[in-house]
Formats: sequence, structure tokens, C-alpha cells
Amino acid sequence: MTALWTAAEIAAATGGVASADFDVSGVTFDSREVGPGDLFLALKGEATDGHRFVAQALAQGAAGALVSDVVEGPHVLVADTVAALDALGRAARARMHGQVIGVTGSVGKTGTKEALFAALDRVEPGCAHRSVKSYNNHTGVPLSLARMPRDARFGVFEMGMNHAGELAQLTRLVRPHVAIVTAIAPAHMGFFESEAAIAAAKGEIFQGLVPGGTAVVPFDSAYREQLIDAARPYAERIVTFGLGKGADYRAVEAMRTANGTFVSARFGVRELSFNLSQPGAHWVSNAIAILAAVDAVGGDMEMAGLALAEMGGLAGRGARTVVRVGEGEALVIDESYNANPASMRATLDVLRQEAGRKLVVLGEMRELGEQSPAFHAELAAPIEAAGVSHAVLVGEAMRPLAKALEGRIDFVHVPDAAMARERLEAVLAPGDAVLVKGSNGVRLSTLVAALAERA
Ligand code: ATP
Ligand code: MG
Repeated sequence: MTALWTAAEIAAATGGVASADFDVSGVTFDSREVGPGDLFLALKGEATDGHRFVAQALAQGAAGALVSDVVEGPHVLVADTVAALDALGRAARARMHGQVIGVTGSVGKTGTKEALFAALDRVEPGCAHRSVKSYNNHTGVPLSLARMPRDARFGVFEMGMNHAGELAQLTRLVRPHVAIVTAIAPAHMGFFESEAAIAAAKGEIFQGLVPGGTAVVPFDSAYREQLIDAARPYAERIVTFGLGKGADYRAVEAMRTANGTFVSARFGVRELSFNLSQPGAHWVSNAIAILAAVDAVGGDMEMAGLALAEMGGLAGRGARTVVRVGEGEALVIDESYNANPASMRATLDVLRQEAGRKLVVLGEMRELGEQSPAFHAELAAPIEAAGVSHAVLVGEAMRPLAKALEGRIDFVHVPDAAMARERLEAVLAPGDAVLVKGSNGVRLSTLVAALAERA
């Protein structure tokens, strides 16, 4: 097997000096993750300095380290390891001759990235590469690039941002052939005044498109035209996806089935039907974006349809578990990884379609800025529409929602995940369906884990 990187290649890419000949098969900057054959990148952060962990990384089997201070053991010495990470990412991209797809959006980046990867990789397992988890920022993106095998046929990269200008930089590293914006919604609002400002910042992804590239734009978004305008100077082709009439890639039918959604998609004169394993209109939308991207890179559409049928739920993003309750069972929908108004609505609509009594444990939605109280209060309507009979609201920011729900449905308001668990367990009964969703910081994942132990 050819090495991911040789020490000489790392030195050449970063302008560094190698202390020895060594090959690496992986790259990481997290000392807890280091495995045999890895390159350990010693980053200097605000909290800690990665150089303190070099010895430990080598003891764990790292083949070498990328450092800016001289250390014992095999290494490449550079002036600045953050700049070197960028350089390594750039070099990985430059030597790769396959097709690259970038994914951004306010919601659905990771889910879309994972499913798109599965769709492309299904043709010939091992031919596609993707970023892991939500590694979508100024360190996660170059790291994900640096991990890309030189012979990858496809690369799929998630890109995120908190500020205007961030995506402009990331996309110029990734240089995608295809750039997808999944959706625009109020999320990570802290540094933005409006959704239109978010749309403008997301639209920066198109700036890095390679010549001849394709922009994939959400047809049903209020910001469609704005995104198309943002893409026009950079994209050779602009295609839209969605559920509405007029979308280039369109779901003409989406029917809830026992374990997902049956989707008929149309693009031009072509049609494709598939069983999407994940329920919800939001997943139909993500799936159509994926088909548009697969088509744009000349991938196999039938295989993509199969991959969408086989896809499992992602932990914290819709995974479903059946847990024991007394002599019976209850369904838990684990959405504990994050929450914002758009994803709350999307998943409450999934809950609406479940059988049985419906319960929710909803943690506060963070990073929503000034409009946060209004965004919370506005969830009362979709909660009611979903037919929820009991709600456990978690966190201070839920107060406006508690107020809005008064006299409408049965609920309790608690400060933290531990209390939420107690209150849920007190009411949970066989046959119930429970949606657990909140911003990651509320740690509702602990509640899900505790419930899963009863599985
Ligand atoms: P992050 O910014 O935290 O990286 P992300 O954009 O990667 O988030 P995902 O982790 O893929 O988003 O999905 C988070 C949640 O958003 C899912 O659990 C689901 O509830 C919801 N979601 C996914 N796709 C959509 C969509 N197209 N529209 C609305 N909600 C969606
Ligand atoms: Mg993500």
C-alpha cells in the first residue's frame, strides 16, 4: 500500500525539514485519537500546546510528528504548524485527480455529506473520501483534505462557518467541482444580523469552485435567487433541487412508508425512484441534493438510490432506538446533537407521523442571538401540530416556550438533562414515541444513552 504521506512529501508541502525518513497512513491533531502510523500535528491552541503530547503520540504508535519546536523522535520541523496544516491540505487537494464536492448550509451538512459519501463509495468501496464528524472549520477542513488518499476518485467535504468570509477561505482550499448549499435557516446566528446575511455567507462556497464547476442550490429556499446570484460569477452550471415545481432535480412524490420514505425524483426527462431510509421532508430534500451532486460528478444514480435506501440513522441526528419500558417498548428518536428552529420543525413533523402517544424532550436552542426568545416561543405551534401530549423542556432559554405552551399541552420545564431524564421516565409508557432534541451543550445525549441501556 502506498503511504498517505512520506516525510519528504510532508516537508516539501510545508516548507519544513524532515528529521528522518518515515511514512504515515493517517493524520491527526488530537492526541487522544492517535493510532499506529499516524502523523501527529502539534498545534498551539489557546488552552494547550500540542507539543506537550508529542512523546505520548509517538508512544501510541504515531510514525512521526509535525512540529514547530524541535522534539525527540521522527518529525518534520516547520515554522508554524497551523500554516503547515493548511499547506498539507492544499497539497493533498493538488495531487488528487478525482472530483471534489463541498457541502455547506445551515442544517443538514453532516447528514448530507455522509449520505453523499455512501452514494459515491457504493460503486467501488474505498474510492471515495470524506471529512469525519463535523470537521468543517479552519482546522477540520484542511485536516480532512490532508487525510485524503492520493488516488481518491471522490472527495466530500463539509464546510461550516460562524462569520462572513470564513467559507470564502475554506472553499479556496477545497476547490470543489460541485458546491452544495443544503438550506438556509437561522442557526449559528451569533455573528449575523439576518438570515439574508447568513445566505450571503453560505453563498461564499461557490467562490472556490474550479472552472467548469456546478453550484447546487435549494429551490424551495427564500434565498434561492440570492444564492444563484452568488454562484453566477463562479459556476459554469447552476442547478436547483427540492420539492417545488420548477426545481431541476425534484421530488415529485414522497410517501411515508413503514421505515422511511418512498421518493420519485425527476430531473429533466429522467426519473429515479428509491426508498429513502430516513423519514422526514428534510431528508427528501437532502436526498435530492445528493442526487444532483452525484449526477454532476457523473456518478451512478441507481447506486446512489440504493445507498439512500441502506443508510442508517446517524447518532444524535435522527437515529432511532427501541427501549424497554416495563413489559413493553418505546421508540426514541435521537436528535440530541443539535437544534435550531428549522431542524426542530423538521423533526417535530417526523414525530407527528409516528404511531402511539408522542412525547418530546426539547433542550434549548443555542447561538440564536437576539431573536432567541421569539424562536423558542414559536415552537409552540409545531409542537401542538405534531400532537405532542407531554413535553419536557430543558434549559433557561426554554422559558418563552413554556409560557407559550401554558394551557395548551401538558409540560414540565427543568434546568438540565439529569432532571429531564427523571421527568421523562416518570411518564414514559409502552407504545410511546419520544423525540429528544436540543443543542449539543444541553447534553441530552446523556439522556438518550441512559434510555438506550434499557434497550
Ligand atoms: P452543524 O452545524 O452542527 O455541523 P449540520 O449542518 O452538519 O450541523 P446535521 O448534523 O447534518 O447538520 O443535522 C442536524 C439536524 O438538522 C438533524 O438532526 C436534523 O434534525 C436536521 N436537518 C437535517 N437536514 C435538514 C434540512 N435539510 N432541513 C431542516 N433540518 C434538517
Ligand atoms: Mg455538521
